[in-house]
Amino acid sequence: MRTQAIVTESYFDGTRHHDCGPYTIGVVDGRLEEIRPGDRSSELAARCRSEGGDALEVLRVPFVMPGLVEAHAHLFLDGAELDFQARQNHLKAPREAMLAVGRRSLRQHLEAGITLVRDAGDLHGINTQLKAESSASRPDLPEIISAGRALRKAGGYGSFMAIEATDAASIVRVLHELAPTADQLKILLTGIIDFERGQMKGGVQFDLSETRLIVRTARDLGRRTFAHCSGPDGLKLAVEAGLDCIEHGFFMERDILCAMADRRIAWVPTFSPVYFQYEHPERAGWNAQTVAGLWRILEQHFEHVALAAELGVPILAGSDAGSYGVAHGHGLVDELFLLRRAGLPLAAVLESATSLPRRVWNCTPAAVQAGHRANLIALAGSPFVEMENLRRVQWVMCAGSHGPSEVTVINKAPCGERSPVPDAQAQNLLAPAQS
Ligand SMILES: [Zn+2]
Repeated sequence: MRTQAIVTESYFDGTRHHDCGPYTIGVVDGRLEEIRPGDRSSELAARCRSEGGDALEVLRVPFVMPGLVEAHAHLFLDGAELDFQARQNHLKAPREAMLAVGRRSLRQHLEAGITLVRDAGDLHGINTQLKAESSASRPDLPEIISAGRALRKAGGYGSFMAIEATDAASIVRVLHELAPTADQLKILLTGIIDFERGQMKGGVQFDLSETRLIVRTARDLGRRTFAHCSGPDGLKLAVEAGLDCIEHGFFMERDILCAMADRRIAWVPTFSPVYFQYEHPERAGWNAQTVAGLWRILEQHFEHVALAAELGVPILAGSDAGSYGVAHGHGLVDELFLLRRAGLPLAAVLESATSLPRRVWNCTPAAVQAGHRANLIALAGSPFVEMENLRRVQWVMCAGSHGPSEVTVINKAPCGERSPVPDAQAQNLLAPAQS
């Protein structure tokens, strides 16, 4: 039996902030046994001795919260690669090269404190292979929810992540083909934003009856659906057809949000790729007029995200990591800052990246709550004092998905900083998750 005591000054449980510490979180074989006020480490150590178990491991930290969830990433793409030609070449690279990028992306997620990633589609099925590797026997990798390959209309946007369907019969056939390697089915419903014109490129890929067929078929196959979708035409159709989650959702409207709130359709607003274009216009050569247009798009997006929160639309934090300028790992943390900037209270921001996505997707819960598995991150300070502390992950503890006895404490202290993990425990540590 392995027993740990995490003594923390304050914590976020996945919904609420607890700031009257210290608190002691008792972890037994990867499960949170109790959370009590005060420093109870001596009491727990005495109990361990009397029960004849292993010595208690004590972890003293400023702040603890559940492992983060990245709701939208493309693991096989390197978002930090800013050379357009290199990005194009990567799409034709050998499988091993794509896998290497995917493996590095996963490590970057873990280093940022992310313990669950939803991959939003890749044509090459790198996500499927990474998922198999991650769930085999690697508690040092985040869990993956994978879309496998996505679905698009023949000739529509999304060639790097989706296979094509042409008509009703092929939609059903393709979805049956995709389902065995897809935890959730990803649909390309619209194109992308024309940044220069400040409007959508191209029309909606599927009509209402086709989109309804997609939703019905997915449900028959026991899969949730999530749709790449922006612009009022596509958004109205997505809501009308009953898709489970809308990705991006730029050019949102109030009525659409009201319908989403009614039908509990989730929204992953993915500010980051557009924000990068706004922040670094020189990369794509945008002129002042385009930059002003980008800001108008972002401003409206901020307003609609605030309204969505007010209306009760489930907002999930996803950065679209892998997109141009959005690096895996810290891209999600940047996205959290943007959600905060939209006006969401910090607790709501953190919930959007912890307990809410797990609840919406019916995952095993991972709250800081007695009875739950240990799926925690420790930060060097409370984000409620200074939000930048979200970038200061000290360690990640993952257990549960890989069996209750496998507790992995990943030493995240960067070079030159002392690890908060006691020396006595060093032999139990996996290699530091540095890329
Ligand atoms: Zn995406």
